[in-house]
Amino acid sequence: MSAPSIVGARLGYEDSYTLERFLATDGDAGLRRALLELTPEQVHAEVLEANLLGRGGAGFEAGRKWSMLRKAPRRYLVVNGDESEPATFKDHLLVERDPHQLVEGATIAAYAIGASVAFIYLRGEFALGLERVQQAINDAYARGALGRNIFGSGFSLDIVLQPGAGAYICGEETALLESLEGKRGFPRIKPPYFPAVIGLYGAPTIVNNVETVSNLPWIVRHGGAAFRALGAGRSTGTRIFALSGSVRRPGAFEVEMTSVTFRELIYGDAYGQGLEPDRELRAFIPGGVSSPWLFPEHLDLPLGQDEVAKAGSMLGSGSIIVMDDGDCPVRAAWRIARFFARESCGQCTPCREGGTWIEQVLRRLELGYGREEDLDLLLDACDNISPGVTWPPAQTTICVLGPSIPPSVVAAIRRFRDVFLTHIKEERCPYD
Ligand code: NAD
Ligand code: SF4
Repeated sequence: MSAPSIVGARLGYEDSYTLERFLATDGDAGLRRALLELTPEQVHAEVLEANLLGRGGAGFEAGRKWSMLRKAPRRYLVVNGDESEPATFKDHLLVERDPHQLVEGATIAAYAIGASVAFIYLRGEFALGLERVQQAINDAYARGALGRNIFGSGFSLDIVLQPGAGAYICGEETALLESLEGKRGFPRIKPPYFPAVIGLYGAPTIVNNVETVSNLPWIVRHGGAAFRALGAGRSTGTRIFALSGSVRRPGAFEVEMTSVTFRELIYGDAYGQGLEPDRELRAFIPGGVSSPWLFPEHLDLPLGQDEVAKAGSMLGSGSIIVMDDGDCPVRAAWRIARFFARESCGQCTPCREGGTWIEQVLRRLELGYGREEDLDLLLDACDNISPGVTWPPAQTTICVLGPSIPPSVVAAIRRFRDVFLTHIKEERCPYD
């Protein structure tokens, strides 16, 4: 990790996940300040001042989301830790390596929004993370940082840890709520009923990502203005970027927003350290596999929400996948389509049928059985899932899983048509 460090401040310590390390490094200081010195409204004001953008993918302002919470006697906080998108691993790191910070952040969020019960929904495969977060919850109850009358403040909170059961779609916030209610993880239609209006068990609910709430102890300790002083424009504070693919040093790097370009992240000594010798950059996916691909001409874009959006893509979940000239773009698009087709919940025809057909046509192209007409067929199928193939997508589906299929397919065909044609002509993948 590189300075400045907010959510990743403890990650350099071998024992970062222990209560001893947590308490020796400002642990509970944010929670004590929030509960004993600030009103919920003042905590909310600090988060608004920080302009903390949600770190789950959509980048919606956390403070603004809290402002939209319907008034009701019962409200819930749900922390979304069902991180399952291929190559996205920053929440995994925070859950395993700093579980106490997560519990502290969740308690601060619950206080600010007036929830007395919160749920942390973690991907079921995070076995070690689940163990450590449960231990952190138990430790918090034992020292009076959870339960009744926390630190004598009058505020009470229970946190329930819920493991997921292996379905990617349960990371979609409304499917997650269905799953928490014990039902099949089918996304709900939104708008009009965002969780902030009708959420868990029909009550107003805030769903915040693990990294989002993990920022709260620092924001309360240092103030929203200090957070906002980092970064530029709408992109404030730091983010953890998960860098993978064809770089010499893949990993998770905490970076001040907008202060680093993709070029620095991919090639810099402190980060990815570039590609293997004799390899050239072909493309990179900037924000998880639902984001449109970017290319060498985009390398000098800063890692900022609006900067990447202006280039027609998104920072999304902060996972960057690098492809070099030895990586087959047809295979990459096929693998991404295969992932989404498998994970579709099946409610919407364009996603269920379109995704399956796109996956199969890409498969035959990759294996050398494709035809030239397949390229137009694929573009047409993509247009039916997400008309115009813009990002954010024009939707024909209930959630964005379906529209997450076209960006990679369209980028690969538009940019690497010659590679598709070589597959067809040679009846094989030229990269095998
Ligand atoms: P969204 O833009 O619909 O919503 C973002 C958040 O803002 C939600 O919590 C939503 O409830 C809230 N919101 C938006 N408008 C609102 C309003 N008017 N009133 C109240 N609340 C409102 O995006 P989404 O569908 O929640 O998330 C999609 C993103 O998730 C994608 O962009 C993708 O990058 C990301 N994603 C992440 C992962 C991962 O593993 N981290 C996996 C899949 C997808
Ligand atoms: Fe299910 Fe796909 Fe429709 Fe989302 S878009 S609700 S995953 S069928």
